[in-house]
Amino acid sequence: MATTLISTHAGAEARCDARRGAALALDRFGAVERPELAYTPEVARETAPVYEKVRHIIPPIEWPALAPTIHAINRLKKERNAVILAHNYMTPEIFHGVADVVGDSLQLAIEATRTDAEVIVQCGVHFMAETSKILNPSKTVLIPDMRAGCSLAESVTAADVRGLRERNPGVPIITYVNTSAAVKAECDICCTSSNAVQVVESLGVDRVFLIPDKYLAANVARQTSVEVLTWDGACEVHERFTAQELRDYRRIDPDVKIIAHPECPPEVVAEADFAGSTAHMINWVKTRRPAKVMMITECSMADNVASETPEVEYIRPCNLCPHMKRITLSKILDALVEMKEEVLVDPDIAARARTAVERMINLKS
Ligand code: SF4
Repeated sequence: MATTLISTHAGAEARCDARRGAALALDRFGAVERPELAYTPEVARETAPVYEKVRHIIPPIEWPALAPTIHAINRLKKERNAVILAHNYMTPEIFHGVADVVGDSLQLAIEATRTDAEVIVQCGVHFMAETSKILNPSKTVLIPDMRAGCSLAESVTAADVRGLRERNPGVPIITYVNTSAAVKAECDICCTSSNAVQVVESLGVDRVFLIPDKYLAANVARQTSVEVLTWDGACEVHERFTAQELRDYRRIDPDVKIIAHPECPPEVVAEADFAGSTAHMINWVKTRRPAKVMMITECSMADNVASETPEVEYIRPCNLCPHMKRITLSKILDALVEMKEEVLVDPDIAARARTAVERMINLKS
């Protein structure tokens, strides 16, 4: 198995693209005035329904500081003909306050193909914004902070994939959606944690590569007779959970239900009552309505789903994703005011990456 490569080069290129893109996008869309951010009676009234959804997690004293930005973003979104796609790991004020579409990577990728909006603001990490751009080449895709990366996406480069192919001719290469556009362009098909087993089995072969997440690959391998080869990447958030930690929680509270994300190590998944993508975890809680549940994933998940399941008690042994947490309300507002930071993908890379992503989407439908 190859060792992990951390590429800073891709990040530098992305920042360069962002500077070029910001200037171009502002030229195309024109400037708007930065809104006044005051907690007026009108702002209080219009944001009251949002506060109802987040009151379990945001104290009333903090709301006057957040509400004006939420109000301004929702107004500006209309003015800019923009849609906000937000991952399940966004903080509650983003998830419930300004997002038009929420979901896991697969749901956001699919929604990105359905939007009529001219501008997509991706509240998530850079590979998600690239995926939206790949599927919507004519739209303007903005990310509120170009530095929002991902340890999985940074663990593998396009050159690494070409090397894998040379050394393993004929073995299909599936890329988890958490990779750059350049990596997707070198792979046969994409997958998410929702559909990885289905994608592996769809290829009709005995052996595949599923890169770059070694834990997702190991968890998939347990559910299929196909041999699953992988790469040495890992999610820095999910790999920190341990099986011992879960056993300790169960010992303290034997009634708690534990659900885990498949980016966790296999021994952690083995200790859980259920494992699935963020969307599957949310569905599991909404359907089963356990008295007490522990979500073994990023912190904001439990915060976001709690408002829809008030009778469920959440135990929160979560880990924060520092990349997801770069996306804040004030940066979303800046993105819409200044039309930054625009995500650009080389058209040739985008076309090849699109083939891999569309193969996955078509499999789903
Ligand atoms: S939670 Fe893990 S996989 Fe998701 S963006 Fe953060 S580092 Fe990447």
